Amino acid sequence: MGYYKCPRCGSTDAFEGTELNNGRKVSVIKCRDCGEILRKKKDYFLTEEEKRFEAEFEAQYARDKEAREKVDEDLVLKIFLIICVVVLLYILIF
Ligand SMILES: [Zn+2]
Repeated sequence: MGYYKCPRCGSTDAFEGTELNNGRKVSVIKCRDCGEILRKKKDYFLTEEEKRFEAEFEAQYARDKEAREKVDEDLVLKIFLIICVVVLLYILIF
């Protein structure tokens, strides 16, 4: 798991609490030390392990994508060859 870092006091001790927003209860992440509301986008940090995991996941995704594109290229080439053969046979027969 990553961690939250409070921009106000620098604490990494956060908890999930609820807050009233326009009369509705919403869940928020708050700093346990000063009560600052923390945002997932800017106050959330990944641990080294998570960064590695994410990099590995992206690398794997890129490899899969490449493999899929390769298959597509092969398929296009095969279809092209089949069309060539058909056209050639047509020319030879008639
Ligand atoms: Zn704080």
